Amino acid sequence: MRSAQNEPKYHVVCRECPVERLFGTGDDATALERTHAEETGHRVVIGRVR
Ligand SMILES: [Zn+2]
Repeated sequence: MRSAQNEPKYHVVCRECPVERLFGTGDDATALERTHAEETGHRVVIGRVR
């Protein structure tokens, strides 16, 4: 059995480079979005995983 808490729910993708990661919480996803945007100035998009 899998724990629902650890399943990826958020898909973070950078539109300007190959960065792409899955996160279980919106906080983690937003953290990467902010860090990456600050470091690179790239546009990062957060999507929901079904
Ligand atoms: Zn990027």
